[in-house]
Amino acid sequence: MFADLHLHTHFSDGTFSPEEVTERAAKAGLSALALTDHDTVDGCQRMEAACLEKGIEFIPGCEFTVEQGGNELHLLGYCFNLKNVHLQATLRKYQEVRRNRVHEMVVRLNGQGIPLKVERVLELADCEAPGRPHVGRALVEGGHCYTLDEAFRRYLKKGRPAWAPKAKMSAAEAINMIHVAGGVAVMAHPGITRMNEVIPDLVAVGLDGLECFYTRHSTSMTEHYLMCAERHGLLVTGGSDCHGDNKGEPLVGRVKLPYEFVKKLKSVAAAMV
Ligand code: AMP
Ligand code: FE
Ligand code: FE
Ligand code: ZN
Repeated sequence: MFADLHLHTHFSDGTFSPEEVTERAAKAGLSALALTDHDTVDGCQRMEAACLEKGIEFIPGCEFTVEQGGNELHLLGYCFNLKNVHLQATLRKYQEVRRNRVHEMVVRLNGQGIPLKVERVLELADCEAPGRPHVGRALVEGGHCYTLDEAFRRYLKKGRPAWAPKAKMSAAEAINMIHVAGGVAVMAHPGITRMNEVIPDLVAVGLDGLECFYTRHSTSMTEHYLMCAERHGLLVTGGSDCHGDNKGEPLVGRVKLPYEFVKKLKSVAAAMV
């Protein structure tokens, strides 16, 4: 039995619906799935229903952008209570941050002579977690760029004219919020973030796990992080980070996490509340 614990849908910056992701995961033979949209849990109810229909176990999740020691990293929260008021309030706050940031990026594009409208970006996003990919789609739609990749390279990447900073929680704040909601906190794609030196600091503020298995982790990276998890007594997770078909080929099921790790994750989460 295998799981994919890192998936996105159109409730944030993926292109698939929860039903489409689940359908593809079923075809890939997966037994458990976690939805980890950025700054929203709005897709969880539909994904849970789709999983139930396919006989797949569903794990609620979310991906948070946080700051640790002046650097940005991503934290995955799992197995929390979706109705927790602290979680809900935090999500609402960062969804507002995202809308304001879209506004800021559009103003910057307007300053570059590109007549884009905030309303159109939010319409295209059609979710509570609008971001750069949606601004990029609007740029392509308006004929200002040929592809989403070009939109990122020319305008949206850090250092490019439309990039705007995003207000972030501290890692400690996010980990605490996840714990209060009964969940576990996992550092996402450590091999991509490349901030190994912050792992002990994250452990000190309550980090529970490391995403050792990841699409863009080499075998040696995976081995490195498995040892690191063992050394710090951390849970091991893994996922594909599928965003649908907007970044090449769909990745769902590309990472197959052995189910024993899901079992451990759930037992630690069960002890949280
Ligand atoms: P944001 O959270 O608004 O800063 O947007 C970050 C998201 O943009 C990431 O999660 C990716 O889904 C997406 N992204 C980053 N770089 C690219 C790229 N070159 N092409 C397409 N999507 C990208
Ligand atoms: Fe993303
Ligand atoms: Fe991420
Ligand atoms: Zn992700």
